[in-house]
Amino acid sequence: MSLKHVISVSGGKDSTATLLIALERCRREDIIAIFCDTGNEHEQTYEYLAYLEQALDIRIHRLKAEFSAQLATKRMFIARDQRTGRVYESAVVFDACGNPVSKRDTRGNIVMRTVTRNGVKVAEPVQKTKKVGSGRRLRWSNKAKRRALAVLMPTGNPFLDLCLWKGRFPSSTARFCTQELKRDMAVAFQLDLIEQGFRVLSWQGVRRDESHQRRGAKLSERIGPGLWAFRPIVAWTSDEVFRFCSAKGIQPNPLYKQGMSRVGCMPCINVKKAELRQIASRFPAHIERIAEWEHLVGQASKRGFSTFLSDAHDAADRRQVFADLNIWARVEWSKTTRGGRQFDLLADLDAPAACASAYGLCE
Ligand code: SF4
Repeated sequence: MSLKHVISVSGGKDSTATLLIALERCRREDIIAIFCDTGNEHEQTYEYLAYLEQALDIRIHRLKAEFSAQLATKRMFIARDQRTGRVYESAVVFDACGNPVSKRDTRGNIVMRTVTRNGVKVAEPVQKTKKVGSGRRLRWSNKAKRRALAVLMPTGNPFLDLCLWKGRFPSSTARFCTQELKRDMAVAFQLDLIEQGFRVLSWQGVRRDESHQRRGAKLSERIGPGLWAFRPIVAWTSDEVFRFCSAKGIQPNPLYKQGMSRVGCMPCINVKKAELRQIASRFPAHIERIAEWEHLVGQASKRGFSTFLSDAHDAADRRQVFADLNIWARVEWSKTTRGGRQFDLLADLDAPAACASAYGLCE
């Protein structure tokens, strides 16, 4: 059984260095480069992939997830759903002096009930209760159904279709984007090769100093029958990665010189405050696109609102949460100093054309 080397290229520095190492060590005919297109990429990343293909004389296979079947199933589910009403938390009512307030019927008479106390049946007033909060719907309301069915159609953009299907955006605790748009696509591609009779070595541009979660990443490991992972730059620093690519004559993705610390989604759901400010100032069209997506995904959700960037929020009213956390509000927040109350007067001095590399790539 021959061995295929599958290299997942993202357009970032680490996967580029990994591809360069693979090209150095393996036969070209055994190398397969793949790119999982989330649909939330920057156009400069697509251009960079074309540059890599041309500079390295290699083809990078584009993989794109598809959710039309899931969207069709969801449409059917919503259309058949029976509304069963709304449920509220309740609390008993007291007057200003702390005395229980009695419940009254529509004619103003106090509502009584019969209870047994010490074996004797007595009549006593029923205490008035009030609804607490805005309640929650057990099922889709007719209005929410109409709203959702109007937008639950495949758009051809994997990221947007995934969020329409889920009725929400991913978050740091529910990162289904990575799983559905990248990991599952790459794994399915590799399993397909195994079914064709190949053994697969999955080359991954993972580094231990990238994050706490990756601190324990191994150089290599067996993932399953016929499938191994290999991480040749696991012990490298980001400086070493840039130096290696430069020594091989390969330019970094131009996004690194425009304030981006990582190349991936534009923006990522985990975007940092300073990076969001850079994106809003340099690539406002991407912020406008996210605002449109917030509208569409909100329409597809039971609550009617959804925000791309989630954050802890204690308001029960979803309208308030949306008003505080929608992408435009987050962009305004990104322009503030620490604490989020005062505007950073120096922020506007960051001219969009200036280099703002987080890695010191500028001469
Ligand atoms: S975690 Fe960020 S970069 Fe990764 S798929 Fe989700 S949004 Fe994109």
